Amino acid sequence: MIYLDNSATTKVSSEVFEEVKRFLEESYGNPSSVYKLGRDAKSEIEKSREVVANALNAKNPREIIFTGSGTESDNLAIKGVFEAKGCGHIISTKIEHHAVLHTLEYLEKKGAKVTYLDVDKNGLINLDDLKNAIQEDTILISIMFANNEIGTIQPIEEIGKIAKEHNIYFHTDAVQAFGHEVIDVEKMNIDLLSLSAHKLHGLKGTGALYIRSGIKIKPQLHGGAQEKKRRPSTENVMGIVALSKATELAIANMEKDNKHKLQLRNKLIDGILETIPHTHLNGCRENRLSNNVNISFDFIEGESLILLLDMKQICVSSGSACTSGSLDPSHVLLALGLKHEEAHGSLRLSLSKYTTEDEINTVIKELKPIVERLRTMSPLYEDFLKKGKGEQ
Ligand SMILES: *Cc1c(COP(=O)(O)O)cnc(C)c1O
Repeated sequence: MIYLDNSATTKVSSEVFEEVKRFLEESYGNPSSVYKLGRDAKSEIEKSREVVANALNAKNPREIIFTGSGTESDNLAIKGVFEAKGCGHIISTKIEHHAVLHTLEYLEKKGAKVTYLDVDKNGLINLDDLKNAIQEDTILISIMFANNEIGTIQPIEEIGKIAKEHNIYFHTDAVQAFGHEVIDVEKMNIDLLSLSAHKLHGLKGTGALYIRSGIKIKPQLHGGAQEKKRRPSTENVMGIVALSKATELAIANMEKDNKHKLQLRNKLIDGILETIPHTHLNGCRENRLSNNVNISFDFIEGESLILLLDMKQICVSSGSACTSGSLDPSHVLLALGLKHEEAHGSLRLSLSKYTTEDEINTVIKELKPIVERLRTMSPLYEDFLKKGKGEQ
């Protein structure tokens, strides 16, 4: 099997697996219990908090709180800030993950005013647009670090600077970037940051939220005193320990892993664009995650491509919002200015440190006949051929 859907989730690394095994055998206590087994579990959490804080260059480990997912971290950051303030204006973008977009839509029903910034054809926001969108009562800017569909990395440091100058909190959904890109919450003036373990070879169901000291958020759960009452629940110690291990590995090997992914990513992009006509790269080559390839194939549907690739045991994903079970084209690709049919004909292939050159060569080789086959069945392609002949 060839797994090229690492933006959706990643394989648990063997090092993380070993760590989880050790943990389950040794430290199964409830971290809130006072006896040693409980205290040991508590100390595993605090060690993990330090690892995650260090990875972000956060000043104090207490600025990290563990959550159940990237989605939960986004919800807690945005709803938490809005509800603590009681009202106000929020600035975000049209290409956020649904965990942010749907949270903002929910808050709009509760009286929040939200501005969704446009992006250019590469998926980048315009910093002047951001400055112009700021109002008297703007309380929060929420802009993702790197996009999960097209891999575009936003000018985070510049955004942080603008937010700071205007005394506005800056939240970034860094789920795709954490462990893959250098992040420094101090240098970048980030006030709140969401991350998720399963995007860096950790376990599903563990996330974290960085909250700069002094920022008040309204908890979204009510219960015990865990995570300083900001996220009550008996801690998912196993998931937290796994996140810690995954973070250590990701930070230690970031440069090496990125070099590997980048080289294969470029090979895959060039291989597809050169061997298959009527294909286009979505997003730009620069300011792009080292693992992301997103390509539109004219005249055909991404969904059909996925199914035929699946028969060859190649896992990829499309630009359609298939997660919602709908066939709406991707809001991200539409925001880049793609037409509906172009957005429907797109594939996202996302690499990991485990991806090999052989796999990339196989995918390039397998794709061509599949695309050709689908095009022979495509009315759009037939129209295109007729038109071409008519013109000659
Ligand atoms: C995967 C992802 C999320 C959601 O994280 P979960 O832990 O799966 O809930 C949020 N934002 C981005 C950018 C993502 O890629």
